Amino acid sequence: MAGGNAIRGSRVGAGPMGEAERGEAAPRVVVSYWCSNGHETTPSFAQEPGLSVPETWDCPRCGLPAGQDQANPPAPPRAEPYKTHLAYVKERRSSEEGEVILDEALDTLRQRGLIQ
Ligand SMILES: [Zn+2]
Repeated sequence: MAGGNAIRGSRVGAGPMGEAERGEAAPRVVVSYWCSNGHETTPSFAQEPGLSVPETWDCPRCGLPAGQDQANPPAPPRAEPYKTHLAYVKERRSSEEGEVILDEALDTLRQRGLIQ
């Protein structure tokens, strides 16, 4: 015989509008980042005095740095030196030995979290 509790849950001020105006946390801003592989990432950041949105963000899909300019994403780090080194290795060694060295290089990158 509980007849008086039906009104609960519909009180003014308990809705999402009221919570938003209270500002229980710092306001957040959502920023879009694009990596050179075309992945879009939209992390959100707390807007606090003295804190600014970072210029680049690591893409969670491929690990490359992502920038806020979709048409001009940041270049992958170490790409050029790595290619140059690999070409140098291929020149000097047989392809079989080169593959072993390539595997070692990939392992190093995996350990650094640069590739998956
Ligand atoms: Zn990516």
